[in-house]
Amino acid sequence: MEPLDLIINEFLKRFYIIYIIFGLSILLMVVTFIMVRLKQTNTKIIETSTSYNEKTCPQCGGKLIQKNGKYGAFMGCSSYPRCKHTASID
Ligand SMILES: [Zn+2]
Repeated sequence: MEPLDLIINEFLKRFYIIYIIFGLSILLMVVTFIMVRLKQTNTKIIETSTSYNEKTCPQCGGKLIQKNGKYGAFMGCSSYPRCKHTASID
């Protein structure tokens, strides 16, 4: 093998390593991005389902949602802290 071939060979090897590392980091970024987006979507679905068949607040007309406090679960206004209406769960 000629010295030039060796140099080219070495250069190509290094280039491939850089290319693979670069590709993997992009793949990792894409996967992380998708995971974050999925998490956000899941949270939105949960929020929608919990506030689906809720009652309305008699004080401000907002939605009453189930909350967990020191003394257990209760219904609280979704406009909290603007509205502090609470009710027991029946
Ligand atoms: Zn309210």
